[in-house]
Amino acid sequence: MKKQPAYKGYFFSRGYKDVFNIIKKAWRGVIFPFISEFERLGELFSANFFIAIINVICDLAVFPIFTILLFSLNLLFSASFLVFVFVVGIFVYLGYSILYLTDLLFRVVKGIVSQCPLCQQKVRLPSYLCPTCKAKHTSLRPSVYGILKRKCTCGTKLPTTFFNGRQKLQSVCPYCDHNLKDGGRHVEILIPVVGGASAGKTCFITSAMMAIEKHAVANNLQYKYSPTSTDNFVRDKTAMEHGITPEKTGETRLNYYQFYLTPNGEKIKNLISLCDIAGEAYNDTSEISKQIGYKFANAFILVVDPFSIIKYKKEQGIGFNATQYKTSEFRLDDVLSSLITVLENMHCLNSKNMIKTDVVVVFNKCDYADLYNRLGAPAIKNYLARHNATEYQAQNVLCENFLIEYEESNFLNTIKSKFKSVQFFACSSLGHIENGRAFSPKGVAEPMLWIIDKVSKSIDLKKKWGKKI
Ligand SMILES: [Zn+2]
Ligand SMILES: [Zn+2]
Repeated sequence: MKKQPAYKGYFFSRGYKDVFNIIKKAWRGVIFPFISEFERLGELFSANFFIAIINVICDLAVFPIFTILLFSLNLLFSASFLVFVFVVGIFVYLGYSILYLTDLLFRVVKGIVSQCPLCQQKVRLPSYLCPTCKAKHTSLRPSVYGILKRKCTCGTKLPTTFFNGRQKLQSVCPYCDHNLKDGGRHVEILIPVVGGASAGKTCFITSAMMAIEKHAVANNLQYKYSPTSTDNFVRDKTAMEHGITPEKTGETRLNYYQFYLTPNGEKIKNLISLCDIAGEAYNDTSEISKQIGYKFANAFILVVDPFSIIKYKKEQGIGFNATQYKTSEFRLDDVLSSLITVLENMHCLNSKNMIKTDVVVVFNKCDYADLYNRLGAPAIKNYLARHNATEYQAQNVLCENFLIEYEESNFLNTIKSKFKSVQFFACSSLGHIENGRAFSPKGVAEPMLWIIDKVSKSIDLKKKWGKKI
C-alpha cells in the first residue's frame, strides 16, 4: 500500500515499541541492583580485602532468596504482560482481517464499481478526500492505518468501510482525480452505443432514456438522470420534444450519459453509463483504440441504419428521400470490424477467440413503412401465428433474414460468432421524419432494458420478457 496521509494504528506501530520498553524497564529494575552491588564490592576489594570477603559471604547468603524471588516475579509479570498484549493483538488482527475481507467481499459480491467518465478507467475503490484538509487517501480501507477508522494527519477521523460511512466522503478517480459519484458505492454498468455516422446513436440514447424514465414505475424501477459535464441529454431532449432532430455528436472520444436505474427497495444503486461517440471515429481504429472505456464495457448496443445496407437502399428506388431519413453511408461490416479489432487488441485476443460480452443489435428508423411491416409489430405477429416461438426469437429471425436477403451475411455471421449473445430489436428513435411535430419514439426502451437486465445483478424483468434472460 502506498504511504497514506494518516497515523498508523497503535497495534501496527507504537504497540511493539511500548511492549519492548515496558519489559526493558522491568528487567532493568532487577539487573541494576546487581550491577551496583558488583561496583560496591569492587571498591571494597580495593580498600579492605577482609571486609570485602565478609560482604561477599553476606551477599551469597541472601542471593538465592532475593534472586529467585525477584527473577520469578519479573518473569511472571513479563509473561503475563506478553500474554495480555498477545491476546489483545490477536483480537485486533482478527478484527482487521475480518473487516478487510468483509469490505472486499461486499464490493466483489455486489459488483460495486465506478467507471471514470473522464479518463475511462474502471475504478474498484476510489480515492477519498479528507473533509478537513482535502488530503487524498488512495487506499481508504481497513489497514495498518486503522481498522474501522483512520486518523488523517490533520487529526480528522475517517471511516474506512462502506458499513460506517466511507461513501459520505468526497471520492475521486485514482487515475485522474475526476469526481466519482456516490462515494463509489454503486454498481456502474457501462454500455457503449456503437454505430456509423448518422446511424442515429445520439437520438437513440436520448429517446431510450426518456422512454425508460416514462416506464420505470411500471417496471418497479427507480430512474434518475445524473448529468456528466459533457452529455447533451437536456438539450437533445428539449429539441426532440419540439420536433427538432438532436444535433449529431462531433465528439471523437466516448461521451458518457448517466442515469440511475435501481429496483424498488434495493439499497445499492445501479448507475448506467451509455457512451456516445461520433460515428466517424469507427473509420479509424487508431482513434477508437484510444478509448479504453471499450475495454471495460459490460455490453454493447449496435445501432444499425437499415439504409446503410446498400442493396436495401437501392431497392427503395428514386422516390425515396434519403435526406429525410438522414441515411448513413457507413457499411455495417466496417463498423463491426473496427470494434472487434479494438476489442481484440484491448483484451489480447486472437481472431478465433470469442468476446465475452453480450450485444444488442437495434435496427433504427423502422418508422419507415416498409421496415415497420417487415421488422416491426405486424411482422412479429404474422411470424408468431405460424411458428411456436417467443416474440424475441421472432424478432431475431426477421432481422437475420433481412440481413441475409440484403447481402449482409458476413456481418451477421461475424457478430453471432464473435459475441457471447446477440439479440435483435427494431425501433424508431424519432417515430417519424422531422415535420414540426414532437417526435414519438417507438420500441426504444426494450433494447436498452434487455441489455441492462442481461448484465445487471439486481434488475430482473422476467415478467416483461416472459422468462429470465
Ligand atoms: Zn479518471
Ligand atoms: Zn485531513
